[in-house]
Amino acid sequence: MIAPKTLKLSIKSLRDFAKKRLPEETLLELDEKDECPLDIVRHMCDPDQLGIQLLFIPEDCGGFGGGAFDVYCICEEMARIDLGIATAVLATFLGSDPITVGATPEQKKFWLSRIAQEGILFAYGATEPEAGSDLGALRTTADRVMEDGRVVGYKITGNKQWISNGGVADAYSVLANAPGGPCWFVVEKGAKGFNHDEPEDKHGIRLSNTAALSFDNVYVDADRLLGGVEGQGLIQAQLVFGYTRLMVAAFGLGAGWSAVDRAIPYSTKRIQAGAPLSEKQGYTHKLIVPHVAHLEAARAYIEETAERIDAGEGSLNTEGAIAKYMATEAGNSAAEASIQAFGGYGYTREYMVEKIKRDVRITTIYEGTSEIMEMTISRDRWQLHLKTRGQHYHEQAKKFEALHASHPEVGADVAALALHALAEVMEKARLARLTRYQHILLRLGELIAYAECAGSLSRRAALTAESKLNEKSNRRFDAAALAALARVFAREAALKVAEEGLRWIAGAGGVNAAEISAFETGLGLPAIHRAQVGLISDMDHIVDVLYGRIAKAQRAA
Ligand SMILES: Cc1cc2nc3c(=O)[nH]c(=O)nc-3n(C[C@H](O)[C@H](O)[C@H](O)COP(=O)(O)OP(=O)(O)OC[C@H]3O[C@@H](n4cnc5c(N)ncnc54)[C@H](O)[C@@H]3O)c2cc1C
Repeated sequence: MIAPKTLKLSIKSLRDFAKKRLPEETLLELDEKDECPLDIVRHMCDPDQLGIQLLFIPEDCGGFGGGAFDVYCICEEMARIDLGIATAVLATFLGSDPITVGATPEQKKFWLSRIAQEGILFAYGATEPEAGSDLGALRTTADRVMEDGRVVGYKITGNKQWISNGGVADAYSVLANAPGGPCWFVVEKGAKGFNHDEPEDKHGIRLSNTAALSFDNVYVDADRLLGGVEGQGLIQAQLVFGYTRLMVAAFGLGAGWSAVDRAIPYSTKRIQAGAPLSEKQGYTHKLIVPHVAHLEAARAYIEETAERIDAGEGSLNTEGAIAKYMATEAGNSAAEASIQAFGGYGYTREYMVEKIKRDVRITTIYEGTSEIMEMTISRDRWQLHLKTRGQHYHEQAKKFEALHASHPEVGADVAALALHALAEVMEKARLARLTRYQHILLRLGELIAYAECAGSLSRRAALTAESKLNEKSNRRFDAAALAALARVFAREAALKVAEEGLRWIAGAGGVNAAEISAFETGLGLPAIHRAQVGLISDMDHIVDVLYGRIAKAQRAA
């Protein structure tokens, strides 16, 4: 783990660097030219310059040994600057993942030390033209090369698609099928038979190089098989999902906030109907506040998951999926709303929000699409529901009822309503065997993510009130503002779980017309409706905080 002071310094260096080398005009120009600024990416990964990659390399390989929390903080900051450049740095992290989790000690030392000391760029080659979400369908092969009855090397043949850093990396982690099953190999640039295509002409992250790769009998020595044992590739890929999805979650968070942080000052200067837009409730309460609540709910979940990974609770794949799903969907909606907040100006390429919107779009696609996240979340939590005979979310709800008793202001009672309703929806789905419908299974994934994030944000607000927040946590909001955000989000989550849950259960035939009224009561809908009281005044308070009106009023007093 990195010391809080070192992390702060790294973030500051990153900000200073971006201010100097990547002002908005440069970013817009590179986006227009569809150009990856390789010199800048290399500078960021040069150990004698910014050396960003050192943060995630273990100390015994020459890095700083950063944990999940550190990596989240850096990823959010990089995404605030530019998501394309952030992706280029992420690609080295992803490319080195199979090494970190699966390589032999010698391989680890060799490759991770080179990333640390030489700043070499990696790419992560998993996806293929026919194997995207379903990596099991991969067709790239690795044939053994034998000498005197032993394996001395492999010949790799196949194609990879949409590979970040594909045209600029120094080394590639490549997933291929050996006779013993899928494995990761390291292939260096310039290997005979290895080629990459021209960069893709993409919708967004145009500062990131994305290219298809082709392998025609590319020979690698046997020591390039990571871990030295065939058949471990898909397990190794699974082992880091919690961690890597947290990074993409931080990208969604950073890009979303970057858009909102442009819309807020814009709205104070843009006068319409005699007053700034920032003073129009119909503007702030639609285009700003809900997005801030979603982003902060996702942040609460990211931070909790990062802390648990750092505490050694394992890879937390499902939590990583919830964090990624919520943060990237929130980032996309926030950027979309920010275009609206700028009106016609937001629709032009001259304004950064237009670029951010195109950039952030990728975060719901790479490292597992939102639909795959919904499936991952739902399948895992469904097992918990079954194992606990339907009690899992009721038990979770009780924890938030207890939190409400000590912190009545953080919306924990409403988060508890969301969790109780979720348990009821899942139980109805079980009784009527509705998860045989894939749509119901995936919609449950969405409801689970909302209910769990409502709990996390309540907890974060309570920790803030007790001054117990992680030292490295973002402190943009004080306890009162976070409590208001937690109440706003919990109300939305509870209503969504109960009403959409009812809709899908009824829609799939889980209750008939005569049973609906009793089901509504079982879901706690009357209490959830009553909990909406106070919503507008909470939103007003959040606006006052975001626009600095409370600080101003306090200074005046
Ligand atoms: C800019 C960019 C950079 C990338 N960088 C990398 C990289 O560095 N390394 C790498 O290996 N890959 C990379 N990818 C690939 C990326 O991870 C895949 O695009 C992604 O996993 C989705 O795979 P796919 O494109 O084949 O879509 P598909 O899997 O074909 O999915 C298409 C749609 O169908 C949905 N879908 C898929 N399966 C199901 C199902 N079972 N049930 C319901 N719906 C389903 C998906 O959610 C999606 O909406 C990158 C992609 C892009 C665009």
